[in-house]
Amino acid sequence: MPLAGASDFDVIIVGGGPVGLLLACLLKQQGQRIRVVERRTGPITHSAAIGITPPSLQILDKLGLAEEFVSGGVKVRDCFVHGQRGRLGCVSFREIPDERRYILSLPQAATIAILQNHLGQEHIEAGCEVGYVRQQADGCEVQAGGRRLTARYVVACDGSRSSVRSILGMRAPGRSYDCHFVMGDFVDRSGLGDEAHLFFTADGSVESFPLPGGQRRWVVQTETRMERPPPGLVSQLARWRTGIDVPVADQLNESVFTPRKFNCDRYYDGRVIFCGDAAHGMSPIGGQGMNTGFADAEFLAEILTRSEPLKLLPAYDRCRRKAVKTAIFRAEWGMWLGTWRGRARSLVRDFILKHLFCQGPVARRMGAFYAMLTIPFNTLKRVPASRLEPRTLDTAS
Ligand SMILES: Cc1cc2nc3c(=O)[nH]c(=O)nc-3n(C[C@H](O)[C@H](O)[C@H](O)COP(=O)(O)OP(=O)(O)OC[C@H]3O[C@@H](n4cnc5c(N)ncnc54)[C@H](O)[C@@H]3O)c2cc1C
Repeated sequence: MPLAGASDFDVIIVGGGPVGLLLACLLKQQGQRIRVVERRTGPITHSAAIGITPPSLQILDKLGLAEEFVSGGVKVRDCFVHGQRGRLGCVSFREIPDERRYILSLPQAATIAILQNHLGQEHIEAGCEVGYVRQQADGCEVQAGGRRLTARYVVACDGSRSSVRSILGMRAPGRSYDCHFVMGDFVDRSGLGDEAHLFFTADGSVESFPLPGGQRRWVVQTETRMERPPPGLVSQLARWRTGIDVPVADQLNESVFTPRKFNCDRYYDGRVIFCGDAAHGMSPIGGQGMNTGFADAEFLAEILTRSEPLKLLPAYDRCRRKAVKTAIFRAEWGMWLGTWRGRARSLVRDFILKHLFCQGPVARRMGAFYAMLTIPFNTLKRVPASRLEPRTLDTAS
């Protein structure tokens, strides 16, 4: 049955997180009528993504926003790796094959604020939860905050616990990993500057990243999941394992996470499309989730503005799935090695890291690897034009 009358919008985006907002900005730039439906009314209160990779900055360039991001963040050019007996080496971004030779550190709340400001509040229905999503032959109907909205397409950007996924009964098989972390942002008095540091010890890992505004994030591995960590735990474990004083009085926030992975069976169902964490999840260790979602959004914005988007959705599914599988595998592999505990395993890890990853020819490639330059289809520039031609879909792999 067709929609009664013309649709209100070309695209309704459910979820105004970083991925939904980026998609909305890209579609608006192409003259699409869009609406973002977001249940939050204020800024996010938790601290999540900070690392923005060069391919993501290339996508932000399209909106003329990359420099605003760069001016608000910290350019991380080196990541030092430490083992049981001191420094093992450095993964450097100084020679990666991109014009921006760094990972940008910017808190997710700042990313959301820049994108939201660029999009304009008039395109966002804030404080609205999506009730139902129904599909017709020529469009979709969404219930948002008690109102019925219609569009040619609906894109679910509503995060890892996507309600749209549940409404449509879309499966997203996956699992939680058996490792746990507590993290906190601190006023930075460590003297570690603009460098990232990874400490791999027999008791567990510690990761430390610079943040703008003279702050620093510390992430510590814990033996079990702690819903309510004892006060000062991040500070205590960071000092114990690294020897660096991280005063508890300087702590600004705290959160706990147990990484998990999942991947939707399909990234679309008719005219409803999944993007970002609504489609896939990966361990935050490695900092790839939001960047992967940004690449999804760029791909999707391109096909939704073409003449026959429905015919191109299988290409979106195939290309993005390939990128996501690579990112999930890398995050999993890095976390597996990084979370080994015990003295013997720790010494084996030191040997592997020092001789295979922090020295020699592999070391030179690790910068590009962590900057996500070697993920397939990491920006549209890396997608062959033939993949975006409806007539080639049957042969595209
Ligand atoms: C500790 C940690 C560190 C991380 N670090 C990095 C990093 O350095 N780099 C990186 O790339 N990634 C990182 N990530 C991953 C990153 O945070 C996520 O991949 C990213 O938030 C995904 O963005 P999204 O827009 O897809 O989903 P979300 O950020 O989850 O946004 C979803 C939005 O949808 C809204 N919503 C949900 N349901 C509904 C509904 N029914 N109706 C209306 N609105 C709804 C929510 O309010 C939310 O605003 C990290 C994650 C964690 C936990």
